[in-house]
Amino acid sequence: MNKQNNIETFHISTYGCQMNLADSSTLVSTLITRGYRRVKEEDQADLLIFNTCSIREKAEQRVYGRLGEVYKYKQKNPNLKIAVVGCMAQRMGDELIRKVPHVDYVLGTDRLFELPDVIEGLEGTSSVMTAFGHENMDFITPVKETPFSGFITISRGCDNFCSYCIVPFVRGKVQSHSVDYILESVRKLVDEGVVEITLLGQNVNSYKYEDTDFSRLLELVAQNTDIQRIRFMTSHPMDISRRLVDVIGAEEKVMPHIHLPVQSGSNRVLKDMGRFYTIDQYHKMIDYIRLKNDYISLSTDIIVGYPSETGEEFEMTLDVVRKVRYDTAFMFKYSSRPGTRSAEFTDSVPEDEKSDRLIRLIKLQQSIGYEQNQREIGQIKYSLVEGFSKRSKDKLRARTEGNKTVLIPVTEKIEPGQFVPIKINAADAFTLHGEIVEVS
Ligand code: SF4
Repeated sequence: MNKQNNIETFHISTYGCQMNLADSSTLVSTLITRGYRRVKEEDQADLLIFNTCSIREKAEQRVYGRLGEVYKYKQKNPNLKIAVVGCMAQRMGDELIRKVPHVDYVLGTDRLFELPDVIEGLEGTSSVMTAFGHENMDFITPVKETPFSGFITISRGCDNFCSYCIVPFVRGKVQSHSVDYILESVRKLVDEGVVEITLLGQNVNSYKYEDTDFSRLLELVAQNTDIQRIRFMTSHPMDISRRLVDVIGAEEKVMPHIHLPVQSGSNRVLKDMGRFYTIDQYHKMIDYIRLKNDYISLSTDIIVGYPSETGEEFEMTLDVVRKVRYDTAFMFKYSSRPGTRSAEFTDSVPEDEKSDRLIRLIKLQQSIGYEQNQREIGQIKYSLVEGFSKRSKDKLRARTEGNKTVLIPVTEKIEPGQFVPIKINAADAFTLHGEIVEVS
């Protein structure tokens, strides 16, 4: 225990994307190295950490709700400290403490790793720190997410300023980690037993370090490390290159899955969003991806009810979904974020119309997802066993090359972290079902 701050234990809650998960893992590891103990229950902790997301208003509302709920612990234990870190902390700064006075520390996206210094009151720290400083973040040591998988952040920030998105404001300008840092990080995780890594960036295709772009980076990781599987996200349709598609086809370790957020099927809306591609260009890239990779799984993000989106423009989005036939999609109603360009537009689509559009879209995507999954029946998929099914202890959960969840009966011979050949016997809209088979 640090005698001065009376903090011995901590609890962390993480909201939002995989980059936040990766940051939380690193923060946890740093705190443990400094002698603090992680606990599972909030009421056992001397320090409560909330690593937050600002992408949608709902995400922030959830954190406000949680901060309200944990006030009771502070009343019982006046020494309890509460830290809000990450995107919401970055966006709000000391306004957060004004709104929620029982919050003790507010550390933005580039400052959260300094939390151990802050709670120990080291010189040069303060309870609110939000200045960007990720020009060189190669000091961050990635840690594994599970005993066999890990995330490695390859770039931080984003320069795209899509009209609806808060990320460039809360994560700052794009900055790529060095190639050496990434290769060493992969090797470190492999030495610790990791077999699958996910390379993360707001827009991995904008990765650039000296002469190395993202497709070359993928080749280097595949060819110069002993990692067995490589995944990546997210790709921006404006920046994805044919060469990247070729690398995915050529490098066996790179898994056949691309997350390519389309956002809208209307060129006018895309222009308004500042996405810098047309639907025709998007379809051409999808055609090339499918031409080069017999089996590839595609996922996307879609926003419905963007300000001024007409019914006809929404139909164009449905057309894209019908034509591309995504395996999965993350679908949202437009949510205005203060400070973004689109927050100044009149949010002209009524809330119930947005809800109707979302329901129609989800229904369509579910039926297509179901059909896509039916095509996998009879195939053998080499899958990574991740653990028990979230719903049943009689089933193990594994992940296919195409990033689909497959459930298999529990067998004593199989441990999480193993690759197994699974024959797919059945499928619904979200999950495959199968059994392990012998392969000669
Ligand atoms: S590419 Fe656009 S949507 Fe993605 S993080 Fe950057 S600004 Fe946001």
